[in-house]
Amino acid sequence: MTDAEVHPWVGKAVRATLADGRVIAGTLHAEDTHGHGHAHYILVSDSVRQGDKKVQEMIHGAESFVQIVDASSDPAARES
Ligand SMILES: [Zn+2]
Repeated sequence: MTDAEVHPWVGKAVRATLADGRVIAGTLHAEDTHGHGHAHYILVSDSVRQGDKKVQEMIHGAESFVQIVDASSDPAARES
């Protein structure tokens, strides 16, 4: 995908298919503090077990996304 395609999903609960085949449900955040040639995104999901830290997955570049779909109705994707 491109940054133009990914950016509208920032702040939303999504289910993202990655170029390496993984599918991750979480809230999409933009991460602008790095900057080695591509934009970074972070998918944040609540931990499986209550009390654990949230799970954060750093995505390097919009091209690492194959597909993003809305997951706002999926409790697992919503960050609380
Ligand atoms: Zn990077």
